[in-house]
Amino acid sequence: MTGFATRAIHAGQDPDPHTGSVIVPIHSSSTFVQDGVGGLREGYEYARTANPTRTALETCVAALEAGLHGRAFASGMAASDVLLRATCRPGDHIIIPDDAYGGTFRLIDKVFRHWGIEHTAVGQSDLDAVRAAMRPNTRLVWCETPTNPLLNIADIASLAAVAHQTGARLVVDNTFATPYLQTPLALGADVVLHSTTKYLGGHSDVIGGALITDDVELDEQVAFLQNGAGAVPGPFDAWLTLRGIKTLAVRMERHCDNAERVVAALQAHPAVTGVRYPGLATHHGHEIAAKQMRRFGGIVSFTVDGGAAAALAVCARTQVFTLAESLGGVESLIEHPGRMTHASTTGTQLEVPADLIRLSVGIEDPEDLVDDILAALG
Ligand SMILES: *Cc1c(COP(=O)(O)O)cnc(C)c1O
Repeated sequence: MTGFATRAIHAGQDPDPHTGSVIVPIHSSSTFVQDGVGGLREGYEYARTANPTRTALETCVAALEAGLHGRAFASGMAASDVLLRATCRPGDHIIIPDDAYGGTFRLIDKVFRHWGIEHTAVGQSDLDAVRAAMRPNTRLVWCETPTNPLLNIADIASLAAVAHQTGARLVVDNTFATPYLQTPLALGADVVLHSTTKYLGGHSDVIGGALITDDVELDEQVAFLQNGAGAVPGPFDAWLTLRGIKTLAVRMERHCDNAERVVAALQAHPAVTGVRYPGLATHHGHEIAAKQMRRFGGIVSFTVDGGAAAALAVCARTQVFTLAESLGGVESLIEHPGRMTHASTTGTQLEVPADLIRLSVGIEDPEDLVDDILAALG
């Protein structure tokens, strides 16, 4: 297999045999001509079922995760929804991280619970706690590592072993790390989930999701629901995501470089009471992160002296860091998880600290990012 950056640029993206187009075209047709009934030219029939631009994206994301099958969706949540329906039935049980992505928690707690799927939220850096939460009807262990927004680390290989012991599957939401930094299938995960909205797209201009697996049977169920329920990305969205992926390797190196610079500045500031970044030797789980990740990513969380009011004030004062939800784009973003991305967890076991600030460190000049944060901290 070729190297990561080469796969990002070429996998699924051979020049068009008919026109010579070097870049995969945006195939906007909803339907495809048949040479006689059932005589499909290249397997395409109707664009909900399959579309050549989407196929290119699906081939590419599978190659990035070094997986056999990739499926693209209209959003990360659509991918999560399909995965839950492909793997769980009423009466089944799933384990989720106790600081899961807010939307994932909401989907499982507010939607799937009412369809008879139970869940237990567990801190997944504690393998004994995960083992203790496993039940005979546990079908899925849902893992995020690093987690959002606390950047906790789970040991993917060990979690896979725990899940497999009772016949459950391990899904890793690899949105934060990206396949450039971490490849869960190689560590024993059964399926990888992405919000391609974030680093894969990389430019904050498209919403999308993906599922990647080596399990043919699971992929067939996922493909059935992709077509049967229809939460597919349009061809332009698929094309934009592919365009973003081409630079994933260089962007991730720069995100990591800049995050390290920002972390160092935060650590030296007296108003900062704690910095969470998996690259810090003092970070809980650093050794596991170092074992399973190439570098430590572009997301940094920190707490400030003065509680929620102080955290909100910092969020209001940055000039280069834009106050907005989401992450993984080229531009730096700042947000207050308690009031923004994780507001739906208020009053639950998943509630996040009120003095916590999350940064998505972009790829601007590192000096400008450090100056901006220091100025906002005062
Ligand atoms: C954004 C995000 C999702 C949801 O993806 P959407 O594309 O917004 O639907 C899921 N997991 C993580 C870790 C995310 O950051």
